[in-house]
Parts: sequence; C-alpha cells; structure tokens
Amino acid sequence: MKLWWSMELENGRKNLDRILSSGSFSDGDIVYLLSLREEKEVRALAKRAFDETTRQVGENVYFRGLIEVSNICTLNCRYCGIRRANHALNRYEMKKEEIVELALWAANHGLGNICLQSGERQDEKFVDFISECLKEIHRKTVSERLPNGLGITLSLGDQEKNVYERWAEASGNQQQLRYLARFETSNERLFDFLHSAKGKSKTLDRRLRALKDLRKCGYQVGTGVMIGIPGQTLEDLCADIRLFEELGIDMLGMGPYLRSDGGELLKYGQMEPRELLQLSLNMIAVARLVLKDVNIAAATALDVLDSNGRAKAINFGANVLMPNLTQAKYKSGYQLYDHKPSVEKEASSVLEKVVQDVLGSHRKIAWNLSGSSPHWRKRQISNSGR
Ligand code: SAH
Repeated sequence: MKLWWSMELENGRKNLDRILSSGSFSDGDIVYLLSLREEKEVRALAKRAFDETTRQVGENVYFRGLIEVSNICTLNCRYCGIRRANHALNRYEMKKEEIVELALWAANHGLGNICLQSGERQDEKFVDFISECLKEIHRKTVSERLPNGLGITLSLGDQEKNVYERWAEASGNQQQLRYLARFETSNERLFDFLHSAKGKSKTLDRRLRALKDLRKCGYQVGTGVMIGIPGQTLEDLCADIRLFEELGIDMLGMGPYLRSDGGELLKYGQMEPRELLQLSLNMIAVARLVLKDVNIAAATALDVLDSNGRAKAINFGANVLMPNLTQAKYKSGYQLYDHKPSVEKEASSVLEKVVQDVLGSHRKIAWNLSGSSPHWRKRQISNSGR
C-alpha cells in the first residue's frame, strides 16, 4: 500500500516536470497545476513562474498607488462590502483637491503611477468630476522626471464608450492610460449568482463589452477574477485563464474571494485561509505561464490571508503592487471584504510595507517608470504596422 502510494507520488512528480518544462498547457495541465499543494511541487511551480516572469517582463516590480475616490455605488454585487444595500456604511466622496494632493504625493515619492478606483456610477456629475481630476493631475505632474505626467489606471466600472473617450482625452496622456475591470468569473451561471441581488446589476456580457470598448478607445486593458468564490471549480479558473487569452488582455489583477459582513454571501462561507492562499498563488503562477508577457498585480486581499501574501505573489509571477494611498479617514469606509489590511495607516507607511515586500524578494523596484506590459507594447507595434 505504502509502495503504491509513493509510486503515485513519483509519477505525479514526473508529470509535473513534464508539464513545467513545456511551453504550452492543455486544460488538463492547467487544472493539475492549480491543484498543487505539496510544498516541493508548489516550489517547482513558483520557480518556473518566477523565471518566466524574468524572461517575459524583466526583474522590475511596478507600483500603482491606489486612491479609493468614493464608496458610493449604484450596484448590489452580493460579495462586495460597499454594495448599495449596505446601509451600515457612511458614504464618502473625496474632494478633487484631496485626490490631486495624493497624486502629487505619489509623483513626489517616485511611484510613477496611480489607480483611481470607486464604486460604480454613471451619472454626468461623476463623469465630469473624474475628467476634472484627470486634467489637473496631468497638468500638475508633468515634470522632468515624468515627462508624460503620472501614469493613470482607472477602475471605475462599466461606462459608455463615449465616457472612456472623454476620460482618455482628459488624461492628456492616452498612451499610458489603463483601465481595470475584472470580469470576476467566466462562468455565466456563477456570475449571475454573484450579481443576482435586487436592483440594478452587472451582466457578464456587459462587462466583456466594456473590455472590448476600452480596447477600441486605446486603453491598456486589465481584467481579473476572484479566486475561491463559493461554488467555483478549478475548471472554472482554467476557463477564466482561457478567456484572458481570448481577450488578449494586457494586465491582470486577481485575488482571493474573502467574506464580507456587508455582502450577502456569508452563509456560503469562505475557503480555509491557507488553501485559499495557495490556490491564489497557483492561479497567479499559471496565468503567468500561459499569458507570459502581461502585467500581473498582487492583490491587497492576499495580505489578509498572510501578512506576506503579496510578497509571496511576487515569487509566483506577479510584477505589480498597488499600495493603498487613500487617507485613513476614508479607507475604513472602503472595505470590499472584512479585515482589510492597514486601514489605519497613511500612505507613507503603506508604501514602506510594499518596499519591504519587494526587498524581501529577488526583484527590483521600478521607481518613476510607467511599466506598460510588453504584451501591450507588442500590440502597439503590430497595430502601427497594419
Ligand atoms: N466597482 C468597480 C471597482 C471596484 S471593486 C468594478 O466593478 O470594476 C474592485 C474589485 O474588488 C472587484 O472587481 C472585485 O473583484 C473585488 N472584490 C469585491 N468584493 C470582494 C470580496 N468580498 N473579496 C475579494 N474581492 C472582492
């Protein structure tokens, strides 16, 4: 019996070596890699993903300073702590001066990039407000160090195409403009379950259309999923990776699904933290192996599972970190999930933590650099050749 068991392990390892040394991966290979748990095996996966990262996107880790502009949201996503029906929350909107001040702080501290994120709104006042912020940030951050101004990523939900165009124009720097809109899961049934609360809601179709519109408007396009959603399978995660490929995305942001008191999925539970962390790291590694030259962010949610979660993600193939610069007075109002890390901390100590995360890995920090993914740069070259 024991012999049989160790033979099986031996076969498993040979299988792993074979899969990892290959350059292309079947769905079966992907599911198998996602399922790895043994320390030796996950170490082999991490090493392969780390080396692929070095080869494809280099040794740099890029920072995007996150600014949580507002927690006002018109949607009711069932997993999310800031969904409309959570009446326990004080809703806030940062002032333009506060946003610009944080952007300048980021520029002065060598971050090179910020990400503006908020709950979802499509009203004219909001669209206009964001345009005004973008114009001012650009005007005030063009410098010798940042000749094109601060790089901007927007994470402001589904909008009409003309809104993406207006924001691109306002940014003054369309070449470096990025948009992040996770499709959360490619499994339509699961997606509908997650967004089936009463009221205005998201559809997978709408989100996929947004990703295509963003591409047409010249944005560097990012998406991602939550990992460990109740009812999600490894096959679903494999299908997510296939959809990333099909969409030709430039950037990825994926993180563990975590319970949220403000959401309405508590009764479905959450994966055991250590298993969830490993699955999330495996997903990053496999996405790196399959998608190769994209940027991959290590989600802050990883730090809820392990204080070194994001540092570990760097070793599994992530090359972007998003230190949260939002003022402490607002941050606690933007809890998408429970136990959000560092809610009481201000930007400088948050930045210090991600610096330590990178120093503890074998990577370098890319100060003042935009860090567009090679995937996107190649796309530019092939577009201009047409
Ligand atoms: N509303 C915008 C952006 C804000 S939400 C949008 O939909 O694009 C940013 C991301 O937080 C979401 O895409 C989702 O993947 C993640 N998120 C929300 N609730 C979460 C939870 N309970 N656990 C983990 N991630 C969560």
